Amino acid sequence: MNGNDEDPAPTRPRPASHGAELHERLALHGGAPIRRTPWPTYDKGAVHVCADDEEAAMRAIRSHLYFRYDQRTEAETECGQFEAELCRYFGTRHALAVSSGTAALALAIMGAAVPPGSLVACPGFTFVATPSAIVLAGCRPFLAEVDDDLRMDLDDLRRRWRPEIRAILVVHMRGFAADVAALAAFAAEMGVPLIEDAVPALGAELHGRKLGTFGVAGAFSTQSDKALNCGEGGFLVTDDSTLFGRAVALSGAYEGRLRRHFPGTEPPVDGLDLPLLSLRMDEIRAALLRAELTRLPQRLALFHRNYAQVSGALADLPGIAVRNPVAPGAYLGEAFVFRVPGGDAGWFARALRAEGIDARNIGADDDLNVRAFWNWRFMYDDRDPARVRATLPRTARLLAETVDVPLSSSLTPDDCDQLIRAVRKIAAAAGTPGGATPDGSRPAAVGVESVRA
Ligand SMILES: *Cc1c(COP(=O)(O)O)cnc(C)c1O
Repeated sequence: MNGNDEDPAPTRPRPASHGAELHERLALHGGAPIRRTPWPTYDKGAVHVCADDEEAAMRAIRSHLYFRYDQRTEAETECGQFEAELCRYFGTRHALAVSSGTAALALAIMGAAVPPGSLVACPGFTFVATPSAIVLAGCRPFLAEVDDDLRMDLDDLRRRWRPEIRAILVVHMRGFAADVAALAAFAAEMGVPLIEDAVPALGAELHGRKLGTFGVAGAFSTQSDKALNCGEGGFLVTDDSTLFGRAVALSGAYEGRLRRHFPGTEPPVDGLDLPLLSLRMDEIRAALLRAELTRLPQRLALFHRNYAQVSGALADLPGIAVRNPVAPGAYLGEAFVFRVPGGDAGWFARALRAEGIDARNIGADDDLNVRAFWNWRFMYDDRDPARVRATLPRTARLLAETVDVPLSSSLTPDDCDQLIRAVRKIAAAAGTPGGATPDGSRPAAVGVESVRA
C-alpha cells in the first residue's frame, strides 16, 4: 500500500474576514497523515552500506585472521590500515580503533591520566554513554547546563567550577559543534584536559577543522546509528603520544604489541604499569569501516544537503526555534532538533509521529529518554526526578521543549519535504485558535504568537 498517493486531506474554506490560514486536519485528530511509509532509521535497515563494503568484510572473513595483533605487521592488518587512514582523514598523529565509542571515551580519560575519583565535567544534554564513560574511567560525572542551542554552557561551567574537576568532556550533541575553541581555552586556563565526545559529529568541521581534533583527544563511535557503521565499534584520535600509548596499552596491546604502534621509536609508556581492559577492535569490523571511510564524504554531503533543506525551510517558522550552529555549517546534520519555546513539545512530537515522521520530545515525562539527565539514575541518590531536574533547571526546561527528528542520509528531498510539510502543518494548527485540539480548545501553554499566513 502506498499511502503517499492518497488524496490530500480536505482543507476547510478560508474565511476572508480575518485572513488567517486555517489548518489542515491533523493526523493526530483523524486527518490524513502526510506520510505512511516508515521514516528511515538504521534500525529499520536504512544504513549506508554498499556492495564494496560487504566485499571488504568478506575479504577479512576469508583471511581467517580476525585478531589485530597476530604475526602480521600493523601495515598489513585491517585495524592498522584503518588507523593510518584515520590519521590522514583527521590530520592527527595517532588513532586507535577500539570496541565502542564508550570505550574510546573512557580510554581518552584514562589515557589523559585523569586521577580516579576525580570529577569530570560534561553537559547535561548528551547520550547516557558520556557520563557512563566517565564512570567506566573511574571518575564521577559533573554536569553543566546547556544554552538555548543545546550546547555546553561555558558561563555556567565557570560558575559551577570546583577544584575536584580534573577534566572537561565536551559533546557535539546531535552533530552540532560545541563552542570548542572557547572551552579549550577555558580548560587550559583551569589546567585540565579537554576531551571531545565527537561521537555524534564524525566528519563535521568547525572553521575548517574536524571536530574531535580541538581537545587532547577526540572519541568516536562506529555503532550503527553513527556516520560510520560496523554494528559496534569506535576509535579515538590524538596528537598526544603519551595519552595514546596509555590508551593502546589499556585497550589490550599486551606483551610488546604496544611497540607496533610506535614504529622506530620507544613507546612513551610501559604497558606493564597499566591494567589490560580488552577494548580492542577486530579485523572484520575494521575492514568494513575502511570501505565505509572511503565513502564518508558522500554520506556527509547527503546529511548536509538534507539538513540544509529542512532547516532552510523551517528556520523562520513561527512557534519553533531551530538550533543555531556556532559557525556556519558547523554540524553534521544527522538529526533535526528544534524547540517549541513555551509550547507543548510532547504534543508536537506526538502530532509528528501521527503524520508519519519519527519524532521524540527529549524531555517527555512518559518517555524515559536516556538523553535527559534526570533519567541517569545511577548518578543520583535522589529518586525524585523533580529534585534532580532542579539541579540543572535551564537544561531541564530546554529539553522539555525539544523535539528530535532523525535525519538519515538515505532520506530523499521528497522525504525531507514531507517533514517540512508536517512541521508546518502542526505549527499552523498549534498557532490557530482551536486548531490544536479536536474539541476546539488549545493545548496548555502553546506559545505561538502568530499564524503563518
Ligand atoms: C552513541 C554515543 C556514544 C557511545 O557510543 P557507543 O559506541 O554506543 O558506545 C557516546 N556519546 C554519544 C554522544 C553518543 O551518541
